[in-house]
Amino acid sequence: MAQCKVCKSEDVLVEQANEEISYKGATLSVPMTYSTCQNCHREFIATEQIIENDKAIRDAKKAHDGLFIAAEIAAARKKLGLTQEQASLVFGGGRNAFSKYERGEVSQSAAMDKLIKQALKHPMVLHDLLVEAGIAVDKNHLVYTDDNVVAYSVFKAANDHKYTSVKNQTMLEENYG
Ligand SMILES: [Zn+2]
Repeated sequence: MAQCKVCKSEDVLVEQANEEISYKGATLSVPMTYSTCQNCHREFIATEQIIENDKAIRDAKKAHDGLFIAAEIAAARKKLGLTQEQASLVFGGGRNAFSKYERGEVSQSAAMDKLIKQALKHPMVLHDLLVEAGIAVDKNHLVYTDDNVVAYSVFKAANDHKYTSVKNQTMLEENYG
């Protein structure tokens, strides 16, 4: 619970206001969170609000640059069937990279953003990246979902005849390697 550091009151109201920031010649409107003490009427920004506001600014800049915002990174990673640690192995950036991206503490590079988008679009790209990262890929567990994204956690359709050609293609590629 937030507390006013001046009068020690816990009657603190959390408020939001859009703040305009200049970025690359554009003006971005970013929702900023702050607190108002209802007792002494002091306005202040609590530590967790500073973190939240930093994330909002980072997200606004990334949206402007056409990059995944923090929540979209998390959604993309889950869609690829990866844990945060696996995603860091696959796409780089260091062991804790994805937990930092997803908390909005750090922005992914434009290059990494492109690679994630390629992996989402093309299952074979993800497959190759998984193999390179040393993450075991069981061909029988390679499943194409409706939106053409490989979900490694979904096993049920592995032996369905409609996936046979996909499985053959995978094995063929590996024979060349
Ligand atoms: Zn106060």
